[in-house]
Amino acid sequence: MKDCIFCKIVSGEIPSKKVYEDDKVFAFEDISPEAPVHVLIIPKKHIASINELSDEDKDLIGHIFLVSQKLAKEYNIEDSGYRIINNCGEDAGQTVKHVHFHLLGGRQLNWPPG
Ligand code: AMP
Ligand code: ZN
Repeated sequence: MKDCIFCKIVSGEIPSKKVYEDDKVFAFEDISPEAPVHVLIIPKKHIASINELSDEDKDLIGHIFLVSQKLAKEYNIEDSGYRIINNCGEDAGQTVKHVHFHLLGGRQLNWPPG
């Protein structure tokens, strides 16, 4: 989608530190990491937020979780633990309107979140 920074990252128009790609999903390091491991996993297809998901996206979302699991293994946080976060909407602090899942790990993460 025009004017979406994550669509531009998928197309290569905006550079990123890519860590995974297949026909449906793209993953890259967050530009402003909040933990030693901070990766964003996104669908290549533009979906603005979880609110816009439909039935046809069921496999895609399941696939994103399996990619997250694979990346957690690669970053060696499989056993130490990690968090997969999606922020949806203003109160949750969603700043980029293209669905993304944060994979965070490599340090003790606080709970509850702020
Ligand atoms: P959220 O607040 O959940 O919408 O998360 C958006 C995330 O995207 C933030 O953690 C940003 O640091 C990250 N981000 C924004 N622009 C870029 C970029 N060009 N490359 C990598 N990460 C980005
Ligand atoms: Zn987009």
